[in-house]
Amino acid sequence: MPRIQLRDRVEELRLQREALGRQRVRRTVTRRDGVRCEVDGRWLVNFCSNDYLGLSQQFAVTGALQHSAASEGAGGIGSHLVCGHHAAHEALERALADWLGAPRALLFGSGYLANLAVVQGLLGEDDVCVQDKLNHASLIDAARLAGCRLRRYPHADPEGAVRQMRASPDGAALLATDGVFSMDGDIAPLRQLSLAARVQQALLYVDDAHGIGVLGPGGRGSVAAAQLDVAQVPLQLATLGKALGGYGAVLLGDAALIDHLAQTARPYLYTTALPPALAAASLAAVSLARKDHWRREKLRALVARFREGAAERGLSLLPSQTPIQPLLCGDNARAVALAQALEARGYWVAAIRPPTVPEGSARLRITLSAGHGDSDVDGLLDALAWTSDAVGASRSTLGAALTTP
Ligand SMILES: *Cc1c(COP(=O)(O)O)cnc(C)c1O
Repeated sequence: MPRIQLRDRVEELRLQREALGRQRVRRTVTRRDGVRCEVDGRWLVNFCSNDYLGLSQQFAVTGALQHSAASEGAGGIGSHLVCGHHAAHEALERALADWLGAPRALLFGSGYLANLAVVQGLLGEDDVCVQDKLNHASLIDAARLAGCRLRRYPHADPEGAVRQMRASPDGAALLATDGVFSMDGDIAPLRQLSLAARVQQALLYVDDAHGIGVLGPGGRGSVAAAQLDVAQVPLQLATLGKALGGYGAVLLGDAALIDHLAQTARPYLYTTALPPALAAASLAAVSLARKDHWRREKLRALVARFREGAAERGLSLLPSQTPIQPLLCGDNARAVALAQALEARGYWVAAIRPPTVPEGSARLRITLSAGHGDSDVDGLLDALAWTSDAVGASRSTLGAALTTP
């Protein structure tokens, strides 16, 4: 038997992706101004970013970045346990721990790395990681890399979680869930999950990438919104790249658990520290996220306006109260055609397809930001109503939808 040729396999997979309408196209942004982006020479209103509070271009944030980079440099220059740990990291960890009421915080290069660290640092092959079916890919990958058993339960189903934990009675158990589901926008049933974890003697870990800054009292996220704290949720993840408008991630929680991860987790030990300037930027962003309540209020009002307007126009959104507002399309080609038609009208919305979402559930993932105005939301709603009629009707009207400005 001749050996399988990797180039042949790659070509075969490419053809398959194209046939299934799964080929991804990377777009290049040439300029950014708040929620407006220049793409291929045209300015679009961005409805697909995770900059929910509009902090990424705030002067206090970019000013802190510039100021720190000017004195401390552009790089991280080493890992945290060698020479990369800087006072700016320390200050950011303290500020997040203080804001979220956690005993300890630990900064990571990204949320992806932090998730790898938690599961790999805590679980071995005799243990089980129980996860919601719709958890973020980094949590799924984390369990695979840790070599533990991975058992998934139906979306947002605490009883399903209990069944999966019962089915693996030996070894330690970690129950891991997204706080806000990134492609659906709904909030995990954290109170019931915390009870399930307690009954099954499992440790509950909440990845709150999309909840921090947006949900709960003072923007303290989905754990605080569920009136839980470190006693019920010993570990949680706050990412810095979403509502906080920066880059990186912070694990928060029980001091002994966090210390163990800092000592042992490979995605903490064997990677360069985040540049101090990015930590300084996030420190400024945390301060704005804590005190600018108006950003959250504006965002909530925009979400309500969008949902009311969608109902009036007969658009069926998934049941989400967060800034993630998906419009289900089902078919991959239809989702892509809708996104293209919206772009022709000046709106940038992401068509999310499998494998990011389950087969047959392609969708437009519309995200709102405090940087949007009422007129942006109304304009998007009108464009959505118009294009979904056009794209839904027939291929020929689709052609019209694609060319009408
Ligand atoms: C974005 C995201 C991550 C990854 O965070 P990065 O900092 O972008 O690597 C992890 N979990 C969830 C739920 C996310 O949405």
